[in-house]
Amino acid sequence: MPVRFRGIHRREGLLMRGAAGWGEFSPFLDYDDEECVPWLRAALEAAHDGWPEPVRDRVPVNATVPAVGPEQAAQIVRTSGASTAKVKVAERGQTLADDVARVEAVRDVLGSGGRVRVDANGGWSVDDAVAAVKALDAVGTLEYVEQPCASVEELALVRRRVDVPVAADESIRRAADPYRVRDLEAADVAVLKVQPLGGVRACLRVAEEIGLPVVVSSAVESSVGLAAGVALAAALPELPYACGLGTTSLLGGDVTSSPLDPVDGWLPVRTVDVEEAALADVAADAATDAAWRARFERVDALRRAAVAR
Ligand SMILES: [Mg+2]
Repeated sequence: MPVRFRGIHRREGLLMRGAAGWGEFSPFLDYDDEECVPWLRAALEAAHDGWPEPVRDRVPVNATVPAVGPEQAAQIVRTSGASTAKVKVAERGQTLADDVARVEAVRDVLGSGGRVRVDANGGWSVDDAVAAVKALDAVGTLEYVEQPCASVEELALVRRRVDVPVAADESIRRAADPYRVRDLEAADVAVLKVQPLGGVRACLRVAEEIGLPVVVSSAVESSVGLAAGVALAAALPELPYACGLGTTSLLGGDVTSSPLDPVDGWLPVRTVDVEEAALADVAADAATDAAWRARFERVDALRRAAVAR
C-alpha cells in the first residue's frame, strides 16, 4: 500500500477460482478464525455461485479525501471527476478549523449540485460530534456524517441532536450488527461490506430487513473483491448514495491488467479476471502463501461445522 491504512502497509489475501469466477478471501490478519467465516462464505459465493442479476450497469462511487490541507483536498476532488466526496474529519492532532477548511474547499469544487459527506471514524465524543457536525454542515451542507463516535449508543445520541443524517460504518462489522443499529435507531444509513457480512446475497437480505438505505463499501480489496461490492450495489433495488468502492488507488498493485478504477465517479458492473502476469507482481512469498492456505483450511473447517450444525 502506498500509504499506511488501518495500521497496515501490506494487504494480503487469498484468491480462489470456481465455476462462477474468481473469489477473494482477505480478512485482516488480526481477525481470528471464527470471525473469518463470513469472509470465506463471500469468497465461495463469488467463485461457485456467482451473484444475483444486476438492476443497473454502473454504480456511482465517492471520491475520498484524507485529512490533507484544503488545496490538496480540492485537487483530489477535481481530479476524481466524482460528484460525491467523502472527507476525512476528526483526525488526531488536527482541529475543527482544519476540518471546516477542508470541507469548505471540497464544497467549493463540487458546487451546489455535488454531495459532501464526512467520516470521523469514531473520533468524536457525543458533544464534540454535535458541535462539529453543526459547524461542518454550515459550510459544507452535508449529505451525512459517517461514524461520528465509536459506539452504537453514542451514534444514537448524536442522531437525536443533529439534523444531518448519521451513517454507521465501523459499528457494522459482524452479521448481527446492522440489526443492533436498526433497533437502537442509531443511524439513517448503513454502510455494508460484502466480505464481513458473508456475501452479496447475505447483504441483500440485511438491506431488506433493516429498512435503511445502504452504502456499499470495500474492505480495501483487489479488483476481485471490489467486483463483489459492485455486484451488491448493482443488485440493490434502491441505490440512493454513491458507494465507497473506488479504492483501487489505496493499493500499489492489483491482480488484473483491467482494474476496477473509477472513471468520473462511476464503476462499471462487470466481472474481473485474474491474469498470471499481473498476479506475478503481487504474489506472496512461500511462507505467506503457506500461512494463507492453512488459514483457509482452518476457517473452512469452521464453516463446514456451522453448516452441519
Ligand atoms: Mg468509514
